[in-house]
Amino acid sequence: MKKLFTTLLASVMCLAALTACGNKGTKDVLVVGTNAAFPPFEYVGDDGQPDGFDIALIKAIGEKLGMEIEVQDMEFESLVTAIGSKIDAAIAGMTIDEERLKSVDFSEPYYDAIQYVIVLKDSEIKGADDLKNKTIGVQLATTGNYIADEIEGATVKSYNKGVDAVNDLINGRVDCVIIDKNPAMVFTEKFADKLTAIDGAEFDFETEQYAIALPKGSDMVEKVNQALADLKEDGTFDALVAQYIEEAE
Ligand code: GLN
Repeated sequence: MKKLFTTLLASVMCLAALTACGNKGTKDVLVVGTNAAFPPFEYVGDDGQPDGFDIALIKAIGEKLGMEIEVQDMEFESLVTAIGSKIDAAIAGMTIDEERLKSVDFSEPYYDAIQYVIVLKDSEIKGADDLKNKTIGVQLATTGNYIADEIEGATVKSYNKGVDAVNDLINGRVDCVIIDKNPAMVFTEKFADKLTAIDGAEFDFETEQYAIALPKGSDMVEKVNQALADLKEDGTFDALVAQYIEEAE
């Protein structure tokens, strides 16, 4: 009995020591929200976990800061309001925009983007005037959604996932989809026989900038910016662009 007790005790002590010596459990955790339906920036990987450029970038930032990153997949629409309560930050191909700036702070921008217009190959939509009075698919609460809302006479259909808007385009339920350039290219590529993606510059859309959203007034903004600068300096950032973004083009 005594021997059994000693063995058990030894095992428990080993476990405790392992936990204390391992990184997990001792590092500060940064809970980061994303919407893993926006390739190549975020998507669900083969192992069922969020993956993509943004996920790799925030993990690299976590490493620089000595923090453990915990990614939470949620609806894009919920991200901004969840910052400071459910999540500590959001990385989701999120464009810096006036409305969002009222409730969150952004890191330095890390990627330039623009909205693209996905159409069926034989579509008559070629420029800004052609969008008037059309039925337009967008991802809910995104900058593409805001642009579509301003188009004269347009009927805007919003979806939780961009890919669902693209499916409705193929099924003839919308005339086009307005969504960010890189996801537009990934989605178009999947149905290359049916779809084509037009550069938003043809529609006079403005350039956008992606950044990491953080709680207003948080001291994390400066830390994240420093980590971003370090990752640019040491080549990690460019390597991730090559691996995740250029690879997808
Ligand atoms: N860049 C767009 C926005 O910030 C879309 C982002 C997304 O759908 N993940 O609204």
